[in-house]
Amino acid sequence: MAGRLKRLLFGGRSAAQELNGSGKMAKDPVCGMEVDEKKAAATSQYKGKTYYFCALGCKKAFDENPEKYWREAPGMHSSKH
Ligand SMILES: [Zn+2]
Repeated sequence: MAGRLKRLLFGGRSAAQELNGSGKMAKDPVCGMEVDEKKAAATSQYKGKTYYFCALGCKKAFDENPEKYWREAPGMHSSKH
């Protein structure tokens, strides 16, 4: 009985963490992927904003030509369709 309750609590907690516990999601401006700010593989500062990347390759592409990828603040509005 106790074990079953514990498992229920534990399962619920980890599910809640997945939904709410992770950090803000930012959009990788290079590939458009959503990146957890805390788990981003790389970050870059541009025009006073921090951009988050899923991989070092994306950061490198951005750093080499930020104007190509820079648009209005990605991830500021929740633009889910
Ligand atoms: Zn990427």
